[in-house]
Amino acid sequence: MAMSTRTALGSAAVSALTVLGLVTPAQARRVDARPDTAELGRELRKLEWRSGGVVSMSRIGESNQGRPVWGARVGHGPVRILYITQQHGNEPLGTPAALRFLAATGVGRTAAQRWLRSRVTVDVVVRANPDGHEHDWRYNHDPSARPGHGKPRKGYDLNRYHDPHIPPADNPATEAGLIQRHYAGFRPEIVVDYHMQGRYVLGDGREITASLMWPTTPGVTPSAGAFARQIAVVAQRAMTAAGGTVTQFPGGEYRGIARNAYGLCGSGSVLVELSDLGAEHERAQIDSALRAMLAVAWSAADGSVERVDPGAAERLPPRGEPLPDTDTTERAAD
Ligand SMILES: [Zn+2]
Repeated sequence: MAMSTRTALGSAAVSALTVLGLVTPAQARRVDARPDTAELGRELRKLEWRSGGVVSMSRIGESNQGRPVWGARVGHGPVRILYITQQHGNEPLGTPAALRFLAATGVGRTAAQRWLRSRVTVDVVVRANPDGHEHDWRYNHDPSARPGHGKPRKGYDLNRYHDPHIPPADNPATEAGLIQRHYAGFRPEIVVDYHMQGRYVLGDGREITASLMWPTTPGVTPSAGAFARQIAVVAQRAMTAAGGTVTQFPGGEYRGIARNAYGLCGSGSVLVELSDLGAEHERAQIDSALRAMLAVAWSAADGSVERVDPGAAERLPPRGEPLPDTDTTERAAD
């Protein structure tokens, strides 16, 4: 059972990458890992145009400093998936991966692409925290705030302000409120939130390329918890197949963390933390995130995610020790 599931998933992932046109190395060179937010808007407009409107962008709201927070949609199928990137401004690589995901699934009219788009609707909040990106820090921009979670004179930690008990209108963290509103309107079955962590090694010396976690807060239904672990396994296998080393992420129980909050709301909710391996590995890390995005969409489309053993997630190793001389203080938590 486990073996046949793995084989089915493996072939689904392979066909997702080949048929959906995983970009060539030449194309990958053109990916800007850190487009500014105006450039990001231009890239999304270009995707709308190149896809003939199959990819559609929307402005889900404005940051505290007036920058657009962009949403993008691809597909029109019954299974709804939400990807979120860059809640923490200084964790950038999910954003270029999302641009590549939109291109791979939205630009082109192959049978596989059209089939995928008929099965899933994928919304992406592309760079949830444009002010934090601009300032190259974790927080949003709210220097007069005295945040319970965040940094005085900087702003709120957006990934602590998704608690379903806080209505968006009362949410002090503006951009987290935008995500809450978007979630409430879209009601996705699947939510995957892309972050970045420091550098860690396993006991055998292998460096970790990504860590994953599912909801860990009391009150998440067993079925939502199991579904999240199935999604995590799909993401892990896609990243491992590309040479990655993936572990569990030691995340906390706090309800305001998106991973926990959207699990409490009933979605299969997963955190992906890409390791910050340095400039020479950025393209590989973007590629790895793209593979996870494609595999999750594909497995939701063909239903193979529901046949995955959720226990495989719990058998992933814990994250391991930080590399010496790396700063893990700010990125110790999701
Ligand atoms: Zn983060």
